[in-house]
Amino acid sequence: MHVIVLGAGITGVTTAWYLTQAGFDVSVIDREPEAALETSFANGGQISVSHPEPWANPAAPLTALRWLGREDAPLLLRPQLDAAQWRWVLAFLHECLPHRSRRNTDAIASLAVHSAERLRALRAATGITYDHLERGILHLFFSAKEFGHARERLGVLASHGIRAETCGPADCIRIEPALAGLSAALVGGLYAPDDESGDAHRFTQALAERAREAGVRFHFRTTVSRIARLGGRVDGIEVTDEAGRPGILKADAYVLCFGSYGARLVAPLGERLPIYPVKGYSVTVPVADPSRAPCVSLTDESRRIVCSRLGDRLRVAGTAELSGFDTALHPERCRSILNWLDSRFPGAGDTEKAQMWAGLRPATPSNLPLIGRSRLPNLWYNTGHGTLGWTLACGSADSLADLMSGRRPKVAAFPFLASDN
Ligand SMILES: Cc1cc2nc3c(=O)[nH]c(=O)nc-3n(C[C@H](O)[C@H](O)[C@H](O)COP(=O)(O)OP(=O)(O)OC[C@H]3O[C@@H](n4cnc5c(N)ncnc54)[C@H](O)[C@@H]3O)c2cc1C
Repeated sequence: MHVIVLGAGITGVTTAWYLTQAGFDVSVIDREPEAALETSFANGGQISVSHPEPWANPAAPLTALRWLGREDAPLLLRPQLDAAQWRWVLAFLHECLPHRSRRNTDAIASLAVHSAERLRALRAATGITYDHLERGILHLFFSAKEFGHARERLGVLASHGIRAETCGPADCIRIEPALAGLSAALVGGLYAPDDESGDAHRFTQALAERAREAGVRFHFRTTVSRIARLGGRVDGIEVTDEAGRPGILKADAYVLCFGSYGARLVAPLGERLPIYPVKGYSVTVPVADPSRAPCVSLTDESRRIVCSRLGDRLRVAGTAELSGFDTALHPERCRSILNWLDSRFPGAGDTEKAQMWAGLRPATPSNLPLIGRSRLPNLWYNTGHGTLGWTLACGSADSLADLMSGRRPKVAAFPFLASDN
């Protein structure tokens, strides 16, 4: 069976890999010249199994209100004349209800555990490298109140078999000596030793190469303008190549992995996907002083900022902005991330050579991705991974390949079909 995967971000490339491993004949289409040049390009680098709680949680509405109007706020809403934005915000508020938030946390945790196991197996099978580190993630707390909530999180993690422990400032510094300068401010940490970090862009490019060797055909610089429908099925994909020449590509089945852009494409087919772009920023700097630059991946829980060591670089990422499809770099947002690096780890990186980047997280209100068949029998989804696309990539793609092969996914509960979200 020939399958066209729409998108060569981390989701599309892992989908192509697991489908080809399952015996499908696979082609991939992307408008960019290479894999992983959009949202999968410069994310925070965390395989964060220990952070399954979605943004939509009971505390989120009050926290967002506190941040309202602050240009450097971790979460920023720039209201648009766009019904999709308001629909998304209302659905987000619904997902903040305690029972929804609990259900979403459990679903993400199960998929994340499976995904981390699949990533390790894939690494062992292919030998690909991507500046990855298996040194865990340390969540940092600078207020006693937030640290108190961290202790409550341990129970949820334990119920999914995710190893984690809370620790005081001295233990945090033992785990990551570069934190020594923060001993006075730090209240405590939550350490998840089995978490990992690595460069999603390098991973995706390396896996695309392996997929090509395994027979997957990549059509880059090819933009999809419309999905054509005939008799209740997808009949073909209308595309234009780099020179603007139109064409139609056909297959037996199609998988949508277009990140934030997929919802608009399937809307004319009557499919309403609850995906909205949530913009985030990252800064990448060369390591200037290795003794000051952390190697353990860190999450600053008060600022919602993450930091990962990627070889001889440091990547700092964060912030969430609902501002439509705008990918412009706003100086204030970039500065707040650079200030974080300067204040937490002065001298660690060469900030003169900082590379700024912004990407659009394809976010559902619940942060649950959509994995499964659409209402059209030959159109499938693997999309909407929001804040956790790197963490969930391998498990999501493996689950989709199972579904398309007529098997049950290996994740016990599977509330990821479009109708569940
Ligand atoms: C600042 C930031 C930090 C993050 N940190 C982390 C982290 O630490 N850990 C984690 O797990 N996740 C993280 N994420 C989330 C993660 O990066 C995303 O969930 C993931 O990259 C989404 O991948 P994707 O393949 O679905 O989308 P994309 O990478 O955007 O891929 C979609 C592809 O579709 C193509 N495309 C779209 N429309 C068309 C069209 N019409 N025709 C042809 N091609 C098209 C695009 O060119 C693109 O290549 C972060 C995100 C951001 C923004």
